[in-house]
Amino acid sequence: MNDSVKNNKFHITTFGCQMNLADSSTLVATLLTRGFQRVYKEKEADVIIFNTCSVREKAEERVLGRLWDIYKYKKDKPNLKIAVIGCMAQRLGEKLIEKVPHVDFVLGTDRLFELPDVVMGHNGFHPVMTAFGYENMDAILPVKENNFSAYVTISRGCDNFCSYCIVPYVRGEERAHSADRIVENVKRLVNDGVVEITLLGQNVNSYRWKDIDFPGLLQRIISETSIRRIRFMTSHPKDLSDRLVEVMSENDRFMPHIHLPLQSGANRILEKMGRNYTIEHYNKIVDYIRSRINYVAVTTDLIVGFPSETEAEYEATLRAVRNIQFDAAFMFRYSVRPGTLAEKYADDVPEDVKIKRLNNLIALQQKISFERNQREVGQTRFSLIEGTSRRSDAFQRARTEGNKIVLFKTGDFMPGQVVPIRIASADAYTLHGEIVEGK
Ligand code: SF4
Repeated sequence: MNDSVKNNKFHITTFGCQMNLADSSTLVATLLTRGFQRVYKEKEADVIIFNTCSVREKAEERVLGRLWDIYKYKKDKPNLKIAVIGCMAQRLGEKLIEKVPHVDFVLGTDRLFELPDVVMGHNGFHPVMTAFGYENMDAILPVKENNFSAYVTISRGCDNFCSYCIVPYVRGEERAHSADRIVENVKRLVNDGVVEITLLGQNVNSYRWKDIDFPGLLQRIISETSIRRIRFMTSHPKDLSDRLVEVMSENDRFMPHIHLPLQSGANRILEKMGRNYTIEHYNKIVDYIRSRINYVAVTTDLIVGFPSETEAEYEATLRAVRNIQFDAAFMFRYSVRPGTLAEKYADDVPEDVKIKRLNNLIALQQKISFERNQREVGQTRFSLIEGTSRRSDAFQRARTEGNKIVLFKTGDFMPGQVVPIRIASADAYTLHGEIVEGK
């Protein structure tokens, strides 16, 4: 039975990664079942929620800026509640209210699903809660992003402590979700019409529940459910096993895309980052992936300007990018995160050098992405229609098996359909094609 809720309209904005999107979807479902109502304009809300990211300083600055933007609504509507949840809430706790006094609730990554009780003022729930160890993994149900695709969280937290990364501090130690429950949840999603799932974890490759590892979990999902398309992220190169590649190569329900963060092409920097692999090891994995999985797309994350990175080490990253030929990459310049190991290193690469390195890297990757996408031209890709193009209603947008966006002329096709699309042209970011009739 729903609790009765006064002033029950909520608006939620999500910053950051897929894990946050998945958490927000779950929180939305929790709020709806508890009698809250979702609205899509902040000014109509009684509760404004920001699910936040701490991974880079810029991400936190954006949230702070937005919190001051919405202060105007609070002046008009004194009962309006503002909740900051997730990674930044976890990192700053009470300090967030000192910085932004009009924030009412601060709930960390293990406590955010308690927001309905906090808003309703239930006993035992405090406006600022960041202690770990309260989360009930089995209570975290996957929620559909739309009628046809869903995120399924398989583990939370991370034990790797890469020296630049705040995640282990704000998301806690790695906890695996029960494989039985994951399989049950995927079955439930299939019954609800979902055709594509993305399994989520900070490092899916270190998943272990009882004697089941990540390839074992994938095998169970394949044999016990009829889900049509399976993706996962993120993979850590130190834990990605040959067996995973073999399992993926044996079934075309696994989408041929692996996101494998490289971060740097220089071994000394990789060691300082605490990544626990070398560029030689990374190259070997990619070679094996490409030898076993047809048309696989490999994407990555890269950081330039890590403390003490020399010009030669930056060149090593460029060389790696040239050699490996990623389909796409997320590229960043290093920024210090307070509390991480790398905070102790001198942030000694000047900002203008970091910017120059990043711009050159982006230009190189753009050229490579363009070339990789040209290889798609003439191929037919079974693609999941996601909706209309963001730029024009005249085109629909679909996602290929390799996770590339393809646009095609709007016709009698619905979001959620998987259709064969012949790729006619491509730029660095988008493919263009047409549906192949009768396939
Ligand atoms: S694997 Fe490293 S980069 Fe990824 S979340 Fe864990 S600590 Fe951060």
